[in-house]
Amino acid sequence: MPELPEVETVRRGLIGPLEGRVLARVRQYRPDLRWPLPADFAGRLTGRRVERLDRRAKFILARLDDGQVWITHLGMSGRMVLSRDVTLPPGPHDHVVIETDGGDIVTFNDVRRFGMMDLVPEDELPEHFLLRDLGPEPLGNAFNDTVLSAALAGRRTPIKAALLDQKIVAGLGNIYVCEALYHAGISPKRLARSVAGKRAARLVPAIRDVLDRAIAAGGSSLRDYVQASGELGYFQHDFAVYGREGDPCRSCGKPVTRIVQSGRSTFYCGACQR
Ligand SMILES: [Zn+2]
Repeated sequence: MPELPEVETVRRGLIGPLEGRVLARVRQYRPDLRWPLPADFAGRLTGRRVERLDRRAKFILARLDDGQVWITHLGMSGRMVLSRDVTLPPGPHDHVVIETDGGDIVTFNDVRRFGMMDLVPEDELPEHFLLRDLGPEPLGNAFNDTVLSAALAGRRTPIKAALLDQKIVAGLGNIYVCEALYHAGISPKRLARSVAGKRAARLVPAIRDVLDRAIAAGGSSLRDYVQASGELGYFQHDFAVYGREGDPCRSCGKPVTRIVQSGRSTFYCGACQR
């Protein structure tokens, strides 16, 4: 599943083909993804110019010249594929295909169809049902240890679960929560309410660091991906604990532990994380 760094990599990869470009031809091959596409979706996108591509949590926001915002979420398996070959027939899981006046073709492919797209007026964006309850951006200025401590105060859930709560901080998923807790030296089982003071002050930069490093890795992979397959945003990471059950912790050498919390795998070092 794409997490925030993958989505940010996709956004950056789409800037060249889309920003400042007119969506000259839009084809949609289904009426719905996870939810129904808005009425006349392809028709309303056609002829619009993309003024800017932004991101909020894991949503890609394309601001259009008519004041509408085209929202995309990649869901579990959604991908954006770039091409310039107009003769290529759409594949079975290609749901939306967009040709720009620059000759680029952007294809939204989603095997499992947990992705979504919507089109809303700019002023309605903050109240969109998928965006209105989102907490602060982890890489934004509104996120700091004071804000995080306040959000965690009184919470009896494990810190792992709290960080996955999109109302506390937006866009964090399973992988980067595991990694951030490792780098902050905080046990995933620790009660959220006890993460304050120095612990919160360690956790915030740890979250930013793991995301920043992954985005940098995605950025360096962008050109390769575009050249190789046209597919944006999926790249190899080197994780400290995620997916490394039984392997030695890179700090203390003890084996990395896997437990299941709220139905999701958590990887951590029981010696380094307290
Ligand atoms: Zn360790």
